[in-house]
Amino acid sequence: MNSFFFDVRTSRRIETIDITREIEARLPRTATGACVVYCPHTTAAIAVNEGADPDVKTDIEAALAAHFPSTGDYRHAEGNSDAHIKSALIGPAEIVPVENGKLLLGRWQSIFFCEFDGPRTRTVRVYLIAG
Ligand code: ZN
Repeated sequence: MNSFFFDVRTSRRIETIDITREIEARLPRTATGACVVYCPHTTAAIAVNEGADPDVKTDIEAALAAHFPSTGDYRHAEGNSDAHIKSALIGPAEIVPVENGKLLLGRWQSIFFCEFDGPRTRTVRVYLIAG
């Protein structure tokens, strides 16, 4: 198994960053199988969704904010419960097929790092599974 990681620096509390190129640039040319893109954080997530129209990520951020506002009747004393909830819903990882070092994403798909409690420096881990 081959793996690597890189940092993502976010600049806002809520931010959706396309990390497709950062991942693909680090894939060995011979890599074929799948890659697990994983973020080891409880207030951030990884998503595969539309990368062509930036309005899509704006709509996703707005919908999540509308359903899970930053303040509310939360018990978690740290004050970032909305970030934990959003992270839990989106999830910490995605699995993407790889062929000869290229991600086999759909035409409109990108891989996104989803920050819900920034700004921070975050880590993305990628694990290659040969297949
Ligand atoms: Zn917390």
